[in-house]
Amino acid sequence: MEIIDGRKVNTEVAKRDFKYYIFDWDDNILHMPTRIYLEKLSRDGVWRSVAVSTSTYALVRTDTAHYRMPQNGGRAAAFRDFQDAPDACSDDLAFIRDTKSALNRIASGESPGPSFETLRKTLREGRIFAIVTARGHAAETIREAVRLFIDRVLTQEERDEMLTNLRGYRYCFDKVDKFGTDEEELDYFLSMCRYHAVTNPDFHERLVGDSDFGVRFAEASADERPELAKEFAIRDFVEHLFRTLQRTNALGHQVAVGFSDDDAGNVSAVSDYIRSELARRFGGFKFVVYDTSDPSLTNGRKVTVAGQLKLPGF
Ligand SMILES: [Mg+2]
Repeated sequence: MEIIDGRKVNTEVAKRDFKYYIFDWDDNILHMPTRIYLEKLSRDGVWRSVAVSTSTYALVRTDTAHYRMPQNGGRAAAFRDFQDAPDACSDDLAFIRDTKSALNRIASGESPGPSFETLRKTLREGRIFAIVTARGHAAETIREAVRLFIDRVLTQEERDEMLTNLRGYRYCFDKVDKFGTDEEELDYFLSMCRYHAVTNPDFHERLVGDSDFGVRFAEASADERPELAKEFAIRDFVEHLFRTLQRTNALGHQVAVGFSDDDAGNVSAVSDYIRSELARRFGGFKFVVYDTSDPSLTNGRKVTVAGQLKLPGF
């Protein structure tokens, strides 16, 4: 710990291993109250409307014999609460409201998602991360929810520790020795992170315009598309990490990227994608995938490791 420009700066961060995380949001970090509107085949052979939680959806989404998208409105109608209402102010956005309510329930004793503590630690340590969700919100909305997480979950000591670490990264890698206000430094950090809601129209436009993913997406079935979009989001984040490390002359460090998701379909698709593509392109990176579909396991089950590096605690 040093005092630079009158602020506490943790210069030890330069010696740390470089671990980065990609988090799914729903039922991985928080159990959100948002519902998905489907139709379910009843015992009498009639399809009836049913509203399911995100955790139920993760289990039934491939059970096409018993569940289907609403005949009236399809996928857009099913996920109508997973979009930002146009022109809504931030307090009125469903995602912000639902995040507040999920955080309130944790404050009153309910269990958070399996990767909740990992996000908390990632923030405290000032490590760059990405949120990758099948939702359709604007990146700015997700970022605002992360900001709520910082304000409501981290203690004052943890926020101080985070800022000491953030200044450490700025000093050691960006060669900054005059710091902004705490608010400015936090803003800079949050701008280095990525918030990909893969059914957002802006994100979708980037995906279909990509020379590789655009073609694969056009050929994919409706069930495969969310998984494919998550792969695209993950590639974007890993490329962003690579460019950041390159810019700051930090590529010689050991790098590990972790991905956690409670949806077994996503875990398996992303694991295959890492093995077939990312591990080859980013040979120096270690990749770890956590299947958090079993809520009784904190941090989930480690299912894939690609890369040779051995990092403690990862
Ligand atoms: Mg999820």
